[in-house]
Amino acid sequence: MGFFSVADQDFLLKILESAPTQKPTEDIAAWVEGRRILPTSSPIPGPWHNAVAPYNIDIMNDLSPNSGVQRVVVMKPRKVGLTTAMENAIAYYMLACPSVILYATASEDLAQDWGDNKIMNVIESLGGLDKITANTTSAKSRRTGNTSDKKEFIGGTLYIMSSQSKRARRQLDVRAIFLDEVDGVTAVTTTGEGKFTEILFGHTAAWGTKRKIALFGSPTVHETSLTHEYWLQGDCRKFLVPCPFCGGKAHVRKYTDWLSFVHCNKCDAERKAETEDKAIAAWNKRANPDFNCSEADTTGDGKCIGYQINSIDDEPHDKCKDCPKSQFYEEANDD
Ligand SMILES: [Zn+2]
Repeated sequence: MGFFSVADQDFLLKILESAPTQKPTEDIAAWVEGRRILPTSSPIPGPWHNAVAPYNIDIMNDLSPNSGVQRVVVMKPRKVGLTTAMENAIAYYMLACPSVILYATASEDLAQDWGDNKIMNVIESLGGLDKITANTTSAKSRRTGNTSDKKEFIGGTLYIMSSQSKRARRQLDVRAIFLDEVDGVTAVTTTGEGKFTEILFGHTAAWGTKRKIALFGSPTVHETSLTHEYWLQGDCRKFLVPCPFCGGKAHVRKYTDWLSFVHCNKCDAERKAETEDKAIAAWNKRANPDFNCSEADTTGDGKCIGYQINSIDDEPHDKCKDCPKSQFYEEANDD
């Protein structure tokens, strides 16, 4: 006679069968840390460190499989290279958590350059080129799995296209879509199918709450910007670097129609400007790479997250922490 009754044994075996057999997947920021090697031609060569561009951390982790977030919108300034977070997430869904995914950008030319060069450099920098291989069991196949508009890899495929191409409207079933340069495209299709973004979102429908949509754009006019529209549907985060004096958490408030300010909750340091965006831009010029904070303006449902990032200086200002607060006020008043 055994230690357990037959019923107990069955019960325990059922628990064991349903127990996870795989390690929980790492978040994207943790996965890329120290792993991606930036080339000597890059401004910051060597291993990737999240602390260099901390505003990428939350964005990447929202795009991670475990986050519960389904849509991440990033309104980014035009001249700042902020596509690295998106590149890292795409590489993650190719190498670490292989899935069928889609990348779309404003034009065929941009898509081709991205497919031929940009993403291949990222995969190479992660030592993943050998994972790009045709998804075929035929020994005679000469396909390499590597074309401008499609990358096949073990466990998945990356489709690359222009946002408004015919190909983008064809039926697809993808887990994640990455839309870049969203404001470089006319919002509504000429063929009467509505917004191109909604057509692309539809490709993820089968994935339900596990789908991931990343939407990046640089609005020129907020009123007509799709990025801005989707950002408003999220929780409207504005990225603020921590207070240069005390490291405290800052928040932005519109005081009147002609006066807004960023204010430190801890030491009351302040930067004023005519608009919220100008106040944030002025505040963020004092970047401190050791911290990351973003404050949601509105409470959302946790599924749609929106980031606004205004002119971040990657170079830390050495005098930030030491300069007297009075000087800070003076500079603010000069604007
Ligand atoms: Zn402070």
